[in-house]
Amino acid sequence: MSDTIERVKCLIIGSGPAGYTAAIYAARANMSPVLYQGTQPGGQLTTTNEVENFPGYPQGITGPEMMMELQAQAQRFEADIRDGWITKVDFSGDIHKVWVNDEKEIHCDTVIISTGASAKYLGLESEQKYLKLGGGVSACAVCDGFFYRNQEVVIVGAGDSACEEAHYLSKLCKKVTMLVRRDEFRASKIMAERVANTPNIDILFNTETDEVIGDGQVVTAVRVYNNKTNEKYEIPATGFFVAIGHKPNTDIFKDYISLDETGYIINTPGTAKTNVPGVFVSGDAADHVYRQAITAAGTGCMAALDAERYLAAKEVTVEVSATA
Ligand code: NDP
Repeated sequence: MSDTIERVKCLIIGSGPAGYTAAIYAARANMSPVLYQGTQPGGQLTTTNEVENFPGYPQGITGPEMMMELQAQAQRFEADIRDGWITKVDFSGDIHKVWVNDEKEIHCDTVIISTGASAKYLGLESEQKYLKLGGGVSACAVCDGFFYRNQEVVIVGAGDSACEEAHYLSKLCKKVTMLVRRDEFRASKIMAERVANTPNIDILFNTETDEVIGDGQVVTAVRVYNNKTNEKYEIPATGFFVAIGHKPNTDIFKDYISLDETGYIINTPGTAKTNVPGVFVSGDAADHVYRQAITAAGTGCMAALDAERYLAAKEVTVEVSATA
C-alpha cells in the first residue's frame, strides 16, 4: 500500500475512443483529468486493422494509429495519461476511491468509466492466430465486413448480434454461411426469420467450428463439424466472423454500480450518469447495441460534460453552505 493518497478531480478508466474523448473534453474544461490506460492501451480498436467509418478520415486509418492520435490530442491539452490497471474501487462515500495495481490509492471527485467490452472468441488456436495477423478473423461485421465485398464468409453465433451481423454481411458478400451450434436460434423470432429469408445466407444447424484454415497469412476456409453426426468438412471462406457475444469489463464495479443482467452498466437515459453521483460511464461498458468507435467517442464527450456539470453544481453547493 502506498502511504500517500493522490487526490484527482477527474479520473478516467480506460483508453479506447470513449476514454480519450472524455480526456480531451475534461482537459479542455480544466478538470486536470488523469487517465489510466489498462492492460490493452487503445482498447478494442487496436485489434482492428483499418477503420474506414470514423468521420474525418476520408482515406481510413488503422485502429492503433487512430488511438495514438486520440492520445496525442488528449495530451496536447495536458491530460495525464498513465499506464496502470485499476484493480479495486470503493464508491460508497462522497469521495470515490480507486486503487491502481492493488497499490496506489487515489481519491477522486469524479470517475468516468470507459472500460469497454471484450468480444468473446471461440478460443481456437487457429482463430487467434489469424485474428492477431489481421488475416481474416473479426468480431465486428460493421467494422470489417467491407473488406470482404463479393467474397464468401462464415459467421458463428445464433443470437441477435449474429443475425444482425449476418444480415449486414449478406448485403456485401457473395455468400454468408452461419454456424449455429444448436438446432435453433437464440435470437428473437423476427431476426432469425430475416436471416432465414435472405437467399445468400446459408444456415447450418448443429454445426461447430473445428478449425480456421489459412495459408499462414490469410484465412482460406473453415473446417466445421456436425455435432450430431460428427461429419467434418471444409467451407471455403476468406473471412471468419465471430458473433457469440461480448463481455463488458465491469466486474470491479458490480458492488457499487447498477448493472443489467449481462453486466452492462445502466446509465440514466440520455446522460452518462450511473446510479452513483459523480461516477459516469461512456462507451461499450454501457452499450450492447451500437458498439462503434464513434458512439463511444460521443458518450465520452457526454461523460466529461456531465462530470464537469456535477463538479460545478457541487462547488456552488459548497460555496453556498460556506456563506450561509
Ligand atoms: P447472445 O448471448 O444473445 O448470443 C450469443 C450466441 O452465441 C448464442 O446463440 C450462443 O449459442 C452462441 N455461442 C456462444 N458461445 C458459442 C460457441 N462457443 N460456439 C458457438 N456458438 C456460441 O449475444 P448477442 O451478442 O447476440 O446479444 C447480446 C444481447 O444484445 C442480447 O440481449 C440481444 O438480444 C441484444 N442485441 C439486440 C440487438 C437488437 O435488438 N437489434 C442486436 C444485437 C444484440 P447458444 O444459443 O447455443 O447458447
